[in-house]
Amino acid sequence: MQFARYLAHGEIAYGVVEDGMVKQITTTPFEDYQVTDHAHPLEHVQLLAPVVPGKVVAIALNYSTHLGERPAPKRVEGFYKPHNCIIADGENIVLPADAGRVDEEGELVIIIGKTAKNVSKENALDYVMGYTIGNDVSARDWQNGPEKDMQWWRAKGADTFGPLGPVISTDIDPFDFTIQVLVNGEKTANKAHSKDLIFDIPTVIAEISKYVTLDPGDIIYSGTPGQTSQLQPGDVVEVEIPGIGVLRNPVVSE
Ligand code: MG
Repeated sequence: MQFARYLAHGEIAYGVVEDGMVKQITTTPFEDYQVTDHAHPLEHVQLLAPVVPGKVVAIALNYSTHLGERPAPKRVEGFYKPHNCIIADGENIVLPADAGRVDEEGELVIIIGKTAKNVSKENALDYVMGYTIGNDVSARDWQNGPEKDMQWWRAKGADTFGPLGPVISTDIDPFDFTIQVLVNGEKTANKAHSKDLIFDIPTVIAEISKYVTLDPGDIIYSGTPGQTSQLQPGDVVEVEIPGIGVLRNPVVSE
């Protein structure tokens, strides 16, 4: 099953996506909703980021293929991204004028469906509503250059640094998915299979929920694989996860 959040005739709604159509639902997918007869062809609506999260958690260094010379982390390494960075499929990633190197990071994003506190690894998937695609856009000089910032507040949190979408899929197997990033239509080395995860999806949810209550609509960027690519103005970056779709965003300079 797939859900979209969209703008049609000046109104924001959630809907179920089926056969190229989106059928409006009576509330959010996190509540007890009903599917209405109010339907639009997908190309007639403007897709929005598929969720308005309360919290955006992200995981660093969670794929063996992304470590390079760095040692594998001994624990789940979480950080926060702020709301201002979230943009929808199709919206521009804006490179700040003084940021230096900015990279894409294609990721599977977990969408929490019900309140999770101290959940076990065994039960963690019961708290997942679905999955979408994220791009954890990262300004490398601010993140880990010689004059790096004390925190990742702008390296990972500048406006537009969190593309999300295009839709939520409930049918992704968190133990068997692939990610492929393309820049200008060319496949990059930012790709993975879920078997390369250091901490699997249930472990990530269980560890975060020990310390931070996760609420419906909260999201977790679960980590990027392989080698990321530097973005240039004029690029188009696509993150593909079969079963969800393609998250496509043009890159522009400030
Ligand atoms: Mg990342």
